[in-house]
Amino acid sequence: MDTECVVCGRSIDSEDPSETGYGDETVAPAQVEYDGKTYLLCRDSCRRTFEEDPEAYA
Ligand SMILES: [Zn+2]
Repeated sequence: MDTECVVCGRSIDSEDPSETGYGDETVAPAQVEYDGKTYLLCRDSCRRTFEEDPEAYA
């Protein structure tokens, strides 16, 4: 299944996070629940961005 990060639009491959293109950065797909729905984020910094202004992305 092809899933995109709701913040930056990168595709998220949860089975192989190294494929997200961040090189040697530590990449861990994240998810956050907002307004009863679960949103997927490609990494923790995107999760923080979402949480700062969730209505912009939800
Ligand atoms: Zn992202």
